[in-house]
Amino acid sequence: MRKIEHIGIAVKDLTAANDNYTKLFNEKPYKQERVESEGVSTSFFMIGDSKIELLEATSQDSAIARYIEKRGEGIHHIAYDVQDIVTERERLVSEGFQAIGEIKNGADNKLVCFFHPKSANGVLVELCQERSE
Ligand code: ZN
Repeated sequence: MRKIEHIGIAVKDLTAANDNYTKLFNEKPYKQERVESEGVSTSFFMIGDSKIELLEATSQDSAIARYIEKRGEGIHHIAYDVQDIVTERERLVSEGFQAIGEIKNGADNKLVCFFHPKSANGVLVELCQERSE
């Protein structure tokens, strides 16, 4: 793993959260994107080299909707940048980390995959690799 790519924060109302974080950073999100397959709307802020992703559920049965129902708003995942997501996913699975689903297209032009929070001391882990196109 090369660095933290972004931190994902689950929010109830993306428009309100965008306004709030725009004030916090004194900077607007550089990207907003709906990821239909995940049932989420996202927006991304850049602070120096670091990114923050805000996620709002667009469907009742999305992971974000379930998360907010259980735990309220807050830090949802930490995403790590990897060079080779296939190899890194295999490595973690062989180390006993519990993968959630397969590698798929995520927001912000990335290939992504997830590992269960119980594998990483309570924090959902996302791996992401820049999609080349
Ligand atoms: Zn993410």
